[in-house]
Amino acid sequence: MTGYQRVLLKLSGEVFGGGQVGLDLDVINATASEVAEVARSGVEVGIVVGGGNFFRGAELQQRGMERARADYMGMLGTVMNCLALQDFVEKHGVETRVQTAITMGQVAEPYIPRRAIRHMEKGRVVIFGAGAGMPFFSTDTVAAQRALETRCEVILMGKQGVDGVYDSDPNQNADATKFESLTYDEFLTRDLKVADATAVSLARDNDIDMVFFNLSTPGTIGRAVRGEKIGTTVSR
Ligand code: UDP
Repeated sequence: MTGYQRVLLKLSGEVFGGGQVGLDLDVINATASEVAEVARSGVEVGIVVGGGNFFRGAELQQRGMERARADYMGMLGTVMNCLALQDFVEKHGVETRVQTAITMGQVAEPYIPRRAIRHMEKGRVVIFGAGAGMPFFSTDTVAAQRALETRCEVILMGKQGVDGVYDSDPNQNADATKFESLTYDEFLTRDLKVADATAVSLARDNDIDMVFFNLSTPGTIGRAVRGEKIGTTVSR
């Protein structure tokens, strides 16, 4: 158990909404407090933010919208989450920068990887928004991409209320069994839905571990960053 120096944390939209549509500021504040504590301990932190608490492109498509336009709405939703997180992390005394993949100069910096690394080196938490800026992608895939490009050591996949990877949805199936660890190939062969396959294959091809853990349990971000055995690790 060594602990990491630079981590990429993925926060899905459901974390921001506390399971509902919109924002649950108490949940965001609690998450921000843990992020700030980790950053203050000297660990460099990048965060990729999801947006499912506002819009998911695939769902809007099913209700009649054109997919690409719906996906842009999804990406814009992630930016609102970024700003909320930024606000609370800064309230906890840690500097942050938001970088978005869709340029919006009044609210955020554009995504500039070398600059993101520089911010992290200076102890600023960098919050990545607007996904990849491209429809048909997911923020899970962006988490893997940003982790690789900004040279993070691990992808920490924070989930709302689920403490790892299960063989079926534990919210729907009482007999669902949790995996302590999985290989990338096992994850992909079983077609597990907790992260999208593109993200996992990108992690596999570049050999970076993914740790899935429950954000709803206080203190888990710190434990994951310290390399404690929590949740489910997906690795080679
Ligand atoms: N999205 C996209 N391209 C990206 C990232 C996200 O089109 O690179 C859109 C897509 O419609 C997705 C939505 O943004 O459904 C919200 O992101 P995601 O579903 O990954 O959020 P999460 O499930 O983590 O809350």
